[in-house]
Amino acid sequence: MSQRRENHGGARPQSIVGVILHNIPPEAAVVRVEYEGPRIALYSKNPAYFEANGHIIPDIVNSLKKRVVLRVDESVRKPEEEARETLASMLPRDAGLENMFFDEVTGEVTLDCRVPKLIDHQSLKEFDSTGWKLRVKKAPSMGSTTVQQIMHMLKSTTSERTAFLRESGERIFRERLLEKNEVRLTALGGYKEVGRSCMLVETNDSKVLLDAGMHPGARGPPDSYPRLDWLQVDLGDIDAIVLSHAHIDHSGFLPVLYKYGYSGPLYCTEPTLALITLLLTDALKISTIEGNRYAYEMKDIRAMMSHAITIPQGTVTDISPDIKLVFYNAGHILGSSAVHLHVGEGAHNVVYTGDFKFGRSLLLEPASFNFPRVETLIMESTYGNKTDVMPPREETDLAFARSINETLQGGGKVLIPVPAVGRAQEIMLVLDHYMRRKVLAETTIFIEGMIREATAIHLYYPEFLTKELKDRIMGNGENPFVTEYFTIVEHPSRRDEALSSGPAIIMATSGMLEGGPSVQYLQEIATDQRNKILFVSYQVQGTMGRRVLDGAKQVGLMDNGKMKIVDINCKVEKAEGFSGHSDYNQLIRYVAKLRPRLQRVILNHGERRKVESLADSVSRMFRIPVYDPAVLDSVKLY
Ligand SMILES: [Zn+2]
Repeated sequence: MSQRRENHGGARPQSIVGVILHNIPPEAAVVRVEYEGPRIALYSKNPAYFEANGHIIPDIVNSLKKRVVLRVDESVRKPEEEARETLASMLPRDAGLENMFFDEVTGEVTLDCRVPKLIDHQSLKEFDSTGWKLRVKKAPSMGSTTVQQIMHMLKSTTSERTAFLRESGERIFRERLLEKNEVRLTALGGYKEVGRSCMLVETNDSKVLLDAGMHPGARGPPDSYPRLDWLQVDLGDIDAIVLSHAHIDHSGFLPVLYKYGYSGPLYCTEPTLALITLLLTDALKISTIEGNRYAYEMKDIRAMMSHAITIPQGTVTDISPDIKLVFYNAGHILGSSAVHLHVGEGAHNVVYTGDFKFGRSLLLEPASFNFPRVETLIMESTYGNKTDVMPPREETDLAFARSINETLQGGGKVLIPVPAVGRAQEIMLVLDHYMRRKVLAETTIFIEGMIREATAIHLYYPEFLTKELKDRIMGNGENPFVTEYFTIVEHPSRRDEALSSGPAIIMATSGMLEGGPSVQYLQEIATDQRNKILFVSYQVQGTMGRRVLDGAKQVGLMDNGKMKIVDINCKVEKAEGFSGHSDYNQLIRYVAKLRPRLQRVILNHGERRKVESLADSVSRMFRIPVYDPAVLDSVKLY
């Protein structure tokens, strides 16, 4: 959509350029107007003019109702090396500048500083003399190789990303074909089941996929993957994929879509991009170690990463000619979001909760519920049964501490299989808190590698954590995840130490005993009756974790290509109440909070009995239609 271009396929961009130019005086020196994915970028040679006249951009946003960003034209931007030197000399030494990252595509530079509050935003203008737009972040006290990997990807794909963002923009802002507004939802996975979450939202003008996960417990392709095969939709016809959060049962299928020809945008929050990069790479690594062929390769993960468009929570973003997207905090894991879709100009509003926690945890704020409008609610039902009520958090914590003490005092070890993301950090905070107060017997807590990396990602995005944690990390420069109790197992060779040193707590991935170090530890821990396996997260049907929790006395597992039988002689328990999901009462309270009144509720992400039971409760209490579709069912929403 360059303003120099005369016409582009009869689309409306000319009028967008018209509005912009009409609002901007020549002194603003706007030389180009380009699409940057869902944003419209104004390239100016005189950014200072916009600083002095702060109303200009908001005025344009108001008249266009689109996201507009100001970019500095390259001709007045200093080359990276020069800008690097200038910035380094300008910043106060005590701010502790650790890293600078220059993104050529947006002209933004991210400054990682140990003490960001020492940077005075007044004296350091948003666009300083270098012509780069500044973004100041708290430098994490633990380096993250995943964040490095993403920066490297951004650097090495500058020209492809520029072209991709322009093309996506052309597509998003294309002319609508019909003025009609019909909306249909098709369930493709994660309906009447937990796993392979995926659904298609269709309007007269667009097709949007929400989540694309794999089923962790399924053994064969038809049940492992979302049923896109059934759709007869060309992947090229899909306008956008929107990802609620990083867990594999919501994201695991994404690289496969890129492998088979999807080349459109993936919308998610910044921490979600970092977490899927970590989790999908790890899933691939584990399967390669076990000698299995996996559904995708590293290059497919890279394709996914370079097509990601990260957007902050609370920002309205056009993702197709007739759909606007807003993310809201879902309180489930770092970066997890409820997806709000606004269809047509006020025609229909859909909220998909994703996985959500409508309650406090030490790590995250509870899910938001203040949507401007919502007619259709698509809600998860993991704990949909009336009896799925969790004890208050304090009770949960104390029961957890008692259970661990009992094993440690009997000379045993406690293995906590834990998902690397979310539960691991929550449990670390709990263990540290109670050990410090002597409620929990003091002992070494061994942490397996992958948890360390996930924790480093949490430290990189403290603005997504609870206010208290954010203040500790940003304000006091603390690292709440590094204390004298934790020992990080940097290499598998150090596992012997964890296994030989008497009573100990071991936290290891995966949380459902589906491969990874938790299974390695299980072989040693499970045979001794003094030990304990203590689950802290939901165990999906079909996983080894679920079988062990359900009382299996023996499990078979693959060890170097051979089947090995392990006796489960140790104690097995599950700590209730740490879940990142809402319990039954929280689900009901959330529905009750939504205003104005809902037109319908659609339930997903729950075992059949839970979904049916919740459907019954919600329709009786709220007297609104409740649907519990199965995979391949469609529901007309508008
Ligand atoms: Zn989840």
